[in-house]
Amino acid sequence: MPFYEYRCSNCGHSLTKLQSMSAPALTTCPECKQETLVKLISASNCDLKGVGVFGNSKSPFKNDSCSASKSPCASCPNASN
Ligand SMILES: [Zn+2]
Repeated sequence: MPFYEYRCSNCGHSLTKLQSMSAPALTTCPECKQETLVKLISASNCDLKGVGVFGNSKSPFKNDSCSASKSPCASCPNASN
């Protein structure tokens, strides 16, 4: 399952969440309990497929383009970190 990164636009709290690709995005901030949680689009490991930087990326997070194509994700380090 991919990690998703969220940040609260109200209090600035950020978190990462391991979610299934079909899971709905979180909207409620666990810190301030406001529905101001925003899903961030992070640099995607899947976008880097073929570049050979798996395990060397600054970000372990994947964005929606990753979940849109399952076959590249099979080679993504979705179990690491
Ligand atoms: Zn908050």
